[in-house]
Amino acid sequence: MIIQIEQDISKSEEEAIQNALANLNIEWYPVETQMGRYLVCVCKSEFDIRTIGALPGVKDLHRVSGKHKLVSSKWKVGRTAVDIGGGESIGANGLTVMAGPCSIESEEQIEKVVEQLVKHGVTVMRGGVYKPRTSPYSFRGLGIEGLKTFHRICRANGIKIITEVMEAAQIEDMFDYVDIYQVGARNSQNFNLLDELGKVDKPVMLKRGISGSIDELLYSAEYVFKNGNEKVILCERGIRTFETASRNTLDLNAVPILQEKSHLPVVVDPSHGIGIRKHVIPMALAGVASGADGIIVEIHEKPEKAATDGQQTLDFAQFGEMMRKVRAVEGVLV
Ligand code: PEP
Ligand code: MN
Repeated sequence: MIIQIEQDISKSEEEAIQNALANLNIEWYPVETQMGRYLVCVCKSEFDIRTIGALPGVKDLHRVSGKHKLVSSKWKVGRTAVDIGGGESIGANGLTVMAGPCSIESEEQIEKVVEQLVKHGVTVMRGGVYKPRTSPYSFRGLGIEGLKTFHRICRANGIKIITEVMEAAQIEDMFDYVDIYQVGARNSQNFNLLDELGKVDKPVMLKRGISGSIDELLYSAEYVFKNGNEKVILCERGIRTFETASRNTLDLNAVPILQEKSHLPVVVDPSHGIGIRKHVIPMALAGVASGADGIIVEIHEKPEKAATDGQQTLDFAQFGEMMRKVRAVEGVLV
């Protein structure tokens, strides 16, 4: 059960609700987000919901029987649009395209990508400055100075930024320079990082773990929400399976399933999902056709020279082709 309580509830009204819950043997967890105050309850037995619903200070109340609570569509029936600032949001109103290099490399590289985004009407640029790498000898990103350059150029062109945060200590330093924090597949269940991202008022896109289930992704989203941040976006980026012909197996089943289980927006990442440049466009289109709220794609002027993930990165001509086809697929979906 989720009880939404009035913002201006008095101390005594709050205590009366808590006493009523204690009498019914119900465990409750207080949650305060940028949008509301809730008591998330874990109920072990049936009871007359009206005994709580009628109490002063209760704004709304829903029975949410499943494992996931605040992220569940049993609580919030309509789809959530996550506000990313500047009057834009992800989810509930059409498709959002996010594109950019795997890693931020230089000022010139950022400018070239921005030019492409503006040309195709794309308003969110991706690019990592903290890169999780399998080998410690690989390029690990330009760090905060790279992010500042990324931000300066994007801001000058009306472009928003999504970039990966790898540890809690980076959150504050990055705050002024990001529009969406990305949690990478390797950190999908870094619960301390998720706790801390719950304490900031900035959208967070959670990637599914490399071997993570749909339920585990929803639990990760629940961590962020429970800690106070409702602005959560889910991302299907492929999972590790027995298949070796592609880098990962893009599980598009996850899109309708996540949208049924949760009210949060769902983004598809075809680049990491298949990991093979020449097959990224069809999988991007499949993502759009599956009903995703957005796609996130790696692009670079010279993919073969990219510092990271060049093998799955589209060049600018391919990006143009993808955008043309994405708009066409979008057009036939009602
Ligand atoms: C990335 O977006 O470049 C990235 C590292 O993604 P993932 O965490 O899905 O591997
Ligand atoms: Mn990448």
